[in-house]
Amino acid sequence: MTFDDLPIREDLRGLTPYGAPQLDVPVQLNTNENPYPPPDALVADLADAVRRVTGTLNRYPDRDAVELRKDLAAYLGHGLGADQVWAANGSNEVLQQILQAFGGPGRTALGFEPSYSMHPIITSGTSTRWIAGARDDDFGIDPARAVQAVREHRPDVVFLTSPNNPTGTALPLEVIRAVLDAAPGMVVVDEAYAEFARTGTPSALSLLPRSPRLIVTRTMSKAFAMAGTRLGYLAADPAVVDALLLVRLPYHLSTLTQEAARVALAHREALLGTVDTLRAERDATVEWLRGRGLTVADSDANFVFFGRFVEKATGPGEVAVDRRTLWQGILDRGVLIREVGPPEWLRVSIGTSAEMAAFRSALAEAMP
Ligand SMILES: *Cc1c(COP(=O)(O)O)cnc(C)c1O
Repeated sequence: MTFDDLPIREDLRGLTPYGAPQLDVPVQLNTNENPYPPPDALVADLADAVRRVTGTLNRYPDRDAVELRKDLAAYLGHGLGADQVWAANGSNEVLQQILQAFGGPGRTALGFEPSYSMHPIITSGTSTRWIAGARDDDFGIDPARAVQAVREHRPDVVFLTSPNNPTGTALPLEVIRAVLDAAPGMVVVDEAYAEFARTGTPSALSLLPRSPRLIVTRTMSKAFAMAGTRLGYLAADPAVVDALLLVRLPYHLSTLTQEAARVALAHREALLGTVDTLRAERDATVEWLRGRGLTVADSDANFVFFGRFVEKATGPGEVAVDRRTLWQGILDRGVLIREVGPPEWLRVSIGTSAEMAAFRSALAEAMP
């Protein structure tokens, strides 16, 4: 039997699964993880916590993860309480629950591309129709164009990613406000990279008090250096949390996950202490790439989007090389970066300074 013979849903035929390569190479700069492992004190506290709760694993976890949600609300600030916060296994699961509750058959979700590839994948996985809006040439979103797209399509869910993946671009609150005013349905601001934003970049959390249809999603996978824990969360009106309770699986967050996330939050100063180092490394990477004549998008995240790789270079900021060939050339030198987004660009996640030095020499050697 082949895949095509399966009685799979028609709307899933022809789709491709999420597929960032997981290759065992010395320098892995392709999934925007924090390169610094959790500090020893966290490891010790987590080991203690696991020992403490393992004796209770015959019981289901707290279905509503109340203590964890209190801790997450305290971390977010903005006067938020536990009833305005919800958590799941990675923000991908949070997004899936949002689409289960607010999308579905006959409904639509709008995003502005290039953006996070999981938004359309989770959208189609929940039988919601994806509508691809466009970002501007500088990867920003013009508020008037965004409003026009919202008025034209009247989507049930709008995705705004800020800082955006794969481009690194953050959105001014003005764009989010304009979309909120025009949108008939829910507006999701995916802030997976919020902690890396340059000083003064506002969070959509500040809009929550006057926006009952706004959902801000966050994750512990990036700045918090806890990608392996699988913990994502959101802040929204308490009624939104009530809606999500209808679609979440009972006991979806294991006791161990809840403990690990709470220990990580207790150690947040040490974990987030790496963020300044990563931002400085990011800014230096942007400068270095620009110094080599490449085009580089402004980044408020822990990665840098650079190009433009074209068949025939016609001006500054362009290099005549096939992106796949360059990506492979860098990989052959032991450095894995990400081939993602429009075909003229590559994305590199920010690693340690030693890893970034390896990236710079691999790129310099692999460039034509
Ligand atoms: C990495 C990322 C996520 C996080 O996914 P998790 O499931 O929390 O690991 C969410 N949104 C964007 C835009 C991302 O890049």
